[in-house]
Amino acid sequence: MLTNKNEVDSVGMRQQNRKEAMKAVLLKGKSICVEEIPTPAPAVGEALLKVGKAGICNTDLELVKGYMEFEGILGHEFMGRVAQSPDKDWIGKRVVGEINIPCRSCATCSDIDPKHCPSRKVLGIHRKDGVFAEYVTLPLDNLHVLPSMVSDREAVFVEPLAAAIAIFDQIRLDRNDEVLVLGDGKLGLLVAQVMQTRTTKIFCAGHHPRKLALLQKRGIQATQDAQEWSKKFDLVIEATGASKGIEDALRFVKPKGKIVAKSTFHGMAKIDFSALVVNEIQLIGSRCGSFVKALEFLNNESIQLEEMVDADFPLTDAKKAFDRAEDPEVIKVLLTP
Ligand SMILES: [Zn+2]
Ligand SMILES: [Zn+2]
Repeated sequence: MLTNKNEVDSVGMRQQNRKEAMKAVLLKGKSICVEEIPTPAPAVGEALLKVGKAGICNTDLELVKGYMEFEGILGHEFMGRVAQSPDKDWIGKRVVGEINIPCRSCATCSDIDPKHCPSRKVLGIHRKDGVFAEYVTLPLDNLHVLPSMVSDREAVFVEPLAAAIAIFDQIRLDRNDEVLVLGDGKLGLLVAQVMQTRTTKIFCAGHHPRKLALLQKRGIQATQDAQEWSKKFDLVIEATGASKGIEDALRFVKPKGKIVAKSTFHGMAKIDFSALVVNEIQLIGSRCGSFVKALEFLNNESIQLEEMVDADFPLTDAKKAFDRAEDPEVIKVLLTP
């Protein structure tokens, strides 16, 4: 009798945890629409997550313009709760999820870095439906349990924060190095705050007084015109999100200096290649980073995340949310399913 009751309860739980249909924000061609579609079924090794909050990132705006030629459910920055899992211990856990889904069996995965797997899927970016939906599936390997001190809103920043912290794995930074961050968008503001933990000489150039003021409040030198400092920098981090950013980075880097390039956009960038060669500049591309390190960072350092949220729209208002996110004065726009 007891066994039967437990079975009924667990079936009941499953039905409660997973609706048959869900609302999702789909990119079709270059337009977005909110549709009711079947709730995805997790594949082997995957969990079904109920999305709690998601963030619109510059990459999402670029995807709408044609970057990666992606079609499907958008979104890769999120937090949620595990609704179904092959490992029952995960059920109900509050989690964030890494966005790269590598094959874990090829030579690139074993010898270089799984995030560069040639047959990888990338959540909401490449061959994998994203998180602007009520539910999403992800491999258990991708999940990280959120510490209780990290709020739902802060958790949405774990992915871009990991991308900012990835710079520390790629370059050695001396305490006295002068660092310039180009761009005061979502990623630029995160990068500047993250770099401030390793150098006292941190500068940021952007276009928006309100965003720059956020950094100035934290003791970061910020301006709308980097020329006013009339100096060059040991390290320039290009996070403008625009093709022109790399030209500026070359103008402001010292000979033998380094440029870390963070922007992804639809289209090509033009650079003065000879300037790069003659000045012996190291140009380093930089993508995703470790969620473990990002969560450690949130635990050990103070960083202003909640202040970066300008709006939080219901998922059904995704079009309005995207319009808002396109406004250059706005920092972060969230979606709540
Ligand atoms: Zn992103
Ligand atoms: Zn692989």
